Amino acid sequence: MQHKIYFDHASTTSLNREVKESYIKLLDKFYNSDALYDDGVAIYRMQEESRMRILNLLGIKNASLIFTSGASEANSLAIKGLAFKNPSKKHLITSIYEHASVYNSFKQLEDLFGYEVTYLKPDKDGMIGVDDIKKHIRPDTLLVSIMHVNNEIGSINDINSIGKFVKENSQAYFHSDITQSLGKIDIPFENLDLASFSAHKIHGLKGSGALVYKNHLDLAALISGGQQEYGKRGGTSNAPANIVLAKTVRIALEGQKKHATYVKELHDYLISKLKDLRVEINSSDKGTHNLINFSTSIKSEVLLNYFNMYGIMVSSRSTCGSRENEPSRVLKSIGVDDEYAIRISINEENNRQEIDYFIDVLKEAIEKYG
Ligand code: PMP
Repeated sequence: MQHKIYFDHASTTSLNREVKESYIKLLDKFYNSDALYDDGVAIYRMQEESRMRILNLLGIKNASLIFTSGASEANSLAIKGLAFKNPSKKHLITSIYEHASVYNSFKQLEDLFGYEVTYLKPDKDGMIGVDDIKKHIRPDTLLVSIMHVNNEIGSINDINSIGKFVKENSQAYFHSDITQSLGKIDIPFENLDLASFSAHKIHGLKGSGALVYKNHLDLAALISGGQQEYGKRGGTSNAPANIVLAKTVRIALEGQKKHATYVKELHDYLISKLKDLRVEINSSDKGTHNLINFSTSIKSEVLLNYFNMYGIMVSSRSTCGSRENEPSRVLKSIGVDDEYAIRISINEENNRQEIDYFIDVLKEAIEKYG
């Protein structure tokens, strides 16, 4: 069998063995977490313990957590849930290069509910500046939402300074999509009002994630239903997934410390090899170490197929947009032609030999098509 090389960890990650084993054991505890007999209450308690442990692990004070089906749902709930609960303020600020679940939530509020949305553009390093927020924030701004790490180019936004500015100079709330930063870099929660993340990006389960939010704000439910999740997300809880999310977060945070130096070394090695091939690096050198976006003179569709032939898995953009015909908003926002861009995302499971092999294949493709 052909050896496979996985360089698409920003798209999804392998399932951690401990998480998998705990989850499998929990599947036998099928009782409804809202049932009032002992076995139901036991599940309920485990779920509540997981909720509290996640908030403690993240170091967030005076906050609540809602378990969701992932970051897309958490983002939708943060943005639309806040808007529906606070209908008197009709201005919102976000960036043009947010994940589709954020961007399309804002689009929906704009198109269907009469909101005015300001979409900020990133600078040459792919970052959203505090100055830009200063310029656009207004007394009727309800929410500012800026992602921590961008999922296509890996740029890191200074969400601490942005949050601080929003808090000190306006009545607006500040939300950040931390899906790509959790378990990779430290997250400053102090000035965040809401944050969304997903389990499957940190070696957890697909269909699992959470929204954390500070207790001074309130949200309208998007999924109407019963009392589950403080009445803000109806439906029988996915208790086994919710219970193992605490373990997933703990392992991710421990892994962040353990693997940071190794991932940086791999990153630097890969960058130096790419530079030797004179390809254009689209990611800023101030970005995360696990994600590298670059362009060659070969169409990415051709290059992706070529890599695939050799068992190398990479992507050309966000996987959520991989079947869209629209150009990538992210790459367009930094002036990069997405038809030629490739995204590699690495983690501690990769090694130098894989990078060498990848570079050999890339070299061969450039000789053939470049
Ligand atoms: N936000 C970002 C930045 C992402 O990269 C992703 C995953 N592509 C999501 C949100 C959506 O996460 P999920 O798949 O859990 O809905």
